[in-house]
Amino acid sequence: MVNGRKISAIEATLPSILELSKSNLLASLEALDQPKYRAEQVWRAIYKEGRTSFGQMTNLSKDLRGILAQNYSIGNAATVISKKSADNSTDKILFKLPDGELIETVLMRYEPDGHRRGRKTVCVSTQAGCALGCTFCATGQQGFRRNLTAGEITEQVLTMERLALAEDKEEIQAGTRSRGELQGVTNVVFMGMGEPLANYENMMESIWVLNDPKGIGIGARHITVSTVGLVPGIEKLAKENIQINLAVSLHAPDNETRSETMPVNKRYPIEELIEACKYFVTKTNRRIFIEYVLLKDQNDTSMHANKLGRILKDLLCHVNLIPVNPTDDGPYHRTTYKEAQRFQSDLKTFNVPSTVRMEKGIDIDAGCGQLRDRALALTE
Ligand code: SAH
Ligand code: SF4
Repeated sequence: MVNGRKISAIEATLPSILELSKSNLLASLEALDQPKYRAEQVWRAIYKEGRTSFGQMTNLSKDLRGILAQNYSIGNAATVISKKSADNSTDKILFKLPDGELIETVLMRYEPDGHRRGRKTVCVSTQAGCALGCTFCATGQQGFRRNLTAGEITEQVLTMERLALAEDKEEIQAGTRSRGELQGVTNVVFMGMGEPLANYENMMESIWVLNDPKGIGIGARHITVSTVGLVPGIEKLAKENIQINLAVSLHAPDNETRSETMPVNKRYPIEELIEACKYFVTKTNRRIFIEYVLLKDQNDTSMHANKLGRILKDLLCHVNLIPVNPTDDGPYHRTTYKEAQRFQSDLKTFNVPSTVRMEKGIDIDAGCGQLRDRALALTE
C-alpha cells in the first residue's frame, strides 16, 4: 500500500530501449541487419526530438518501425500524479515503475536574471527508497526498496525534456523565444530519492547518455551528483573522465554530531570524508558543494559553525546552509533566518564561502520547496 492505494500487480512490459548505451543500440540494430546510421537516427529521434513512439519516427522504414515496436518500449515508467506549482515554476511527477515502485522527479524553471539565461533543472531519483537512514530524511525513513536501472534514471530526464521542448516550441510560436532556439532541460541534479553513489554503475551509464551532445546534451558542468558521503564512490567519481559537480551532504562538523543523524558516519567518519573531498578537488580542479541542513540546536550553534570553519578552511568548497524541511513525525525544527546568517558570518571568519537557502515550501509539496531550493544552489 502506498498512500492508501493498492499497487497493481506487475504489468507485462517490453524491454525499454532507454537501457541501451549507444554502442549497445548499434549492436542491436546491426543484429537486425540495419546499417550503422540507423542507430544514430533512432538515438536522435528518442533523445533529441523526444519522440514517444517508434511510429513517429517516419524517417525509418516502416518495417524497422514495426520491428522496434515489437521488441522495445521507449521507457516503462507510468505517470501516476503530475502536479504544477501555482506560480508555474515547478512540476513534480510521481512515476510508477513496472514492478509497482514509486519514484519522484521534479522540474524547476528559473527565469533569466541579468547576466544569466533561464534554466530548467531536473532533480532525479536514483533508487526507490534509501538504505542510509538519515534521521531527518523522509526517503531514509522508508528504507531501501531497489536500485533504479540506468534507463529508469534517464527516463525521468527524458520525460521532463519533452515537456521543456514543448514549452520552447510554444514560446517560439508566440514570438517570445528566437526561432530554432530549442533549449530543453539545461541542468540535472542527482538529489531526488536514494543515494546515487550506492547505485554507481547505473548512475554513470545514465550520465553518459544525458551528456551525449547528439541527444539531450546536458553539459557535464551542468550535472551535479549529491552524496551522503560514500568515500570509495567519491574517489571513483574523481577518476571519471567527465567534469561533473559533486555535492557532499555533510550536515555536521564533528563525528559525534554527525553520527546522531547520519548512520553512514560510523562507516565513513568525517576525517576520511574530508580527505576524499580534497582528493576529488585535486583530481578534478573543481570546487565541491558542501550541503549543510541546519537542525535547530542539533548542529546550528556558533560552536558548530566554528568547528565547520576549521575543517573546511583548506578545502575548495562552497557551503549551502539549508534550514531543515521538517518531516511529518520528525523531531527537528527549522533554524531561523537570523540564526542561519549568524552561522554564515561565523564561517566567514575562516574564509569559507556560504549561502543561506531559505525559500519557503511551495504549494505542491514542501519537499519540492526543499528540492527546488537545493537545486538552485547547485546550478547557479
Ligand atoms: N542521498 C543523497 C542525495 C539525495 S538527498 C544525499 O544524501 O546527498 C538530497 C539532499 O536532501 C541531501 O543533502 C539531504 O541531506 C537533503 N535532505 C534530506 N532530507 C531533508 C530535509 N528534511 N530537509 C532538508 N534537506 C533534506
Ligand atoms: Fe535521504 Fe540521502 Fe540520507 Fe538517503 S542518503 S537517507 S536519500 S539524505
